[in-house]
Amino acid sequence: MSTQTKADIEEKLYLNHYTVDTQSHLSIKEQSVCAACQRKICLTICPAKVYEIRDGETSISYEGCLECGACRITCPHSNIEWTLPRGGFGIQYRLA
Ligand code: SF4
Ligand code: SF4
Repeated sequence: MSTQTKADIEEKLYLNHYTVDTQSHLSIKEQSVCAACQRKICLTICPAKVYEIRDGETSISYEGCLECGACRITCPHSNIEWTLPRGGFGIQYRLA
């Protein structure tokens, strides 16, 4: 059985190509809900580290999104407005 290290996975992620849109395909519905959220699982579940707390609010660096959907599924308050990027934008996966 092959095991992949974190470094192996990061190396593969560098192969991906992004066509970044000027508008975000992700947004927070209500910052007050995030402020009261105990788990803040979006900060740890996202493999691309898209979510951060900045100045007390949940911020989104949508440019690096891998479109995996994990944040949408795991946010305990369904507080993420999640769509795919518009046609022609987003990630293109490249296999090594
Ligand atoms: S898990 Fe959901 S509600 Fe909690 S901080 Fe993240 S986006 Fe906000
Ligand atoms: S879809 Fe995946 S990569 Fe994109 S923000 Fe959500 S968890 Fe992160």
